[in-house]
Amino acid sequence: MKEFDYIIIGGGCAGLSLAYELEINDKLKDKTLAIIEPRTEYKKDKTWSFWKVVSHNFDDCVIKSWKNFTINIPKKINHLECLNYPYQSIDSGLFYEKINNRLKENKNISLFKDISEINSKNSFIFNSVPSIKKNHLNLWQHFCGVEIETQNNFFDDEIFNLMDFDCDQRESVHFFYTLPYSKTKALVETTWLSKMNDNSQKDYDNQIKDYLENHLNLRNYKITYKEEGAIPLFYPTYEETKNKINIGTAGGMTRLSTGYTFLNIQEHSKYICKNIENISKIRKFEISKKYQFLDDIFLRVLNENPKMMPDIFFKMFKGSPKTVIKFLSNKSNFFEDLKIILKMPKWTFIKALFN
Ligand SMILES: Cc1cc2nc3c(=O)[nH]c(=O)nc-3n(C[C@H](O)[C@H](O)[C@H](O)COP(=O)(O)OP(=O)(O)OC[C@H]3O[C@@H](n4cnc5c(N)ncnc54)[C@H](O)[C@@H]3O)c2cc1C
Repeated sequence: MKEFDYIIIGGGCAGLSLAYELEINDKLKDKTLAIIEPRTEYKKDKTWSFWKVVSHNFDDCVIKSWKNFTINIPKKINHLECLNYPYQSIDSGLFYEKINNRLKENKNISLFKDISEINSKNSFIFNSVPSIKKNHLNLWQHFCGVEIETQNNFFDDEIFNLMDFDCDQRESVHFFYTLPYSKTKALVETTWLSKMNDNSQKDYDNQIKDYLENHLNLRNYKITYKEEGAIPLFYPTYEETKNKINIGTAGGMTRLSTGYTFLNIQEHSKYICKNIENISKIRKFEISKKYQFLDDIFLRVLNENPKMMPDIFFKMFKGSPKTVIKFLSNKSNFFEDLKIILKMPKWTFIKALFN
């Protein structure tokens, strides 16, 4: 059976981002890479959005970029600017196409459906398939989004809505998220932060229909695309071995308080690429311990006090949006952290710290 220098398990966001980073930096000229991916065809299955706090390789896959956004709770709305860090949405279909077209050109890169087709004994492995043990106490961000097209101009495409908490909370944390791509096209998503043990939260189609028709008062629209997912708000099990690094969700690249993962994956890919010649000796790349600690407290508060969360999120965005964006994108300094921490209800967070 054939052997390879490197193996990437899972040709999704993290696996392909890493392969692309290695390829464009000429790291695969004299090395071989096998990508293990069971899917039979690549098509758009996700929309990756984030504040662009660092550069990445996929500006040409961006559907739309915004410099304004809103967050709202019942009867209150906050309009915010993100001039320095625009919010971008990436079309996964364009991302897969761009990367696969580039990788096809290198004969040192091979694709397989299953790892049993190759000899993996002497390879260095990058694994993006998470090992998730079922635990009813774990929190998830689970959601369903639809892209809709309207007959007439309906949306203001200059401004997106990050969180609309003016909806049924059902003892959990629930909000809608709207990304208007144009005046007649938008992605509308229903999002829950919960332990996912209440199946009634999963009537996503009804939630979206009700939101569109009774909240936004939209009648003439058609659904052109749908995506559904669940992001673990805990770190998957990670087995440390000498010849293996976990990447993507499996490698702890999700910021647990937000679910944002895409840009962390890009930064991890750059780190691996930079150190590829020394790969078995490098320090583990991780989201800084400061954010791991703060997110842990934040999620404990969320778990114990779901009813307080719309207000907490709303308050977080009072003041400079730049500070909050940097905080949520792992780029804040000590003083910016402090500004965010001081906006939180003190006793609730102190209690969570000692629970
Ligand atoms: C619908 C959705 C929307 C999201 N939106 C955002 C967003 O807006 N912003 C953001 O920052 N993050 C977002 N995320 C979170 C995160 O960015 C994505 O989940 C991202 O795809 C994670 O990349 P990954 O490579 O870890 O996993 P994936 O992209 O899921 O890749 C894993 C790959 O492994 C393959 N695979 C599965 N089993 C095996 C196996 N046994 N052997 C080999 N391969 C296997 C799968 O087919 C898949 O291609 C979203 C997640 C989902 C699900």
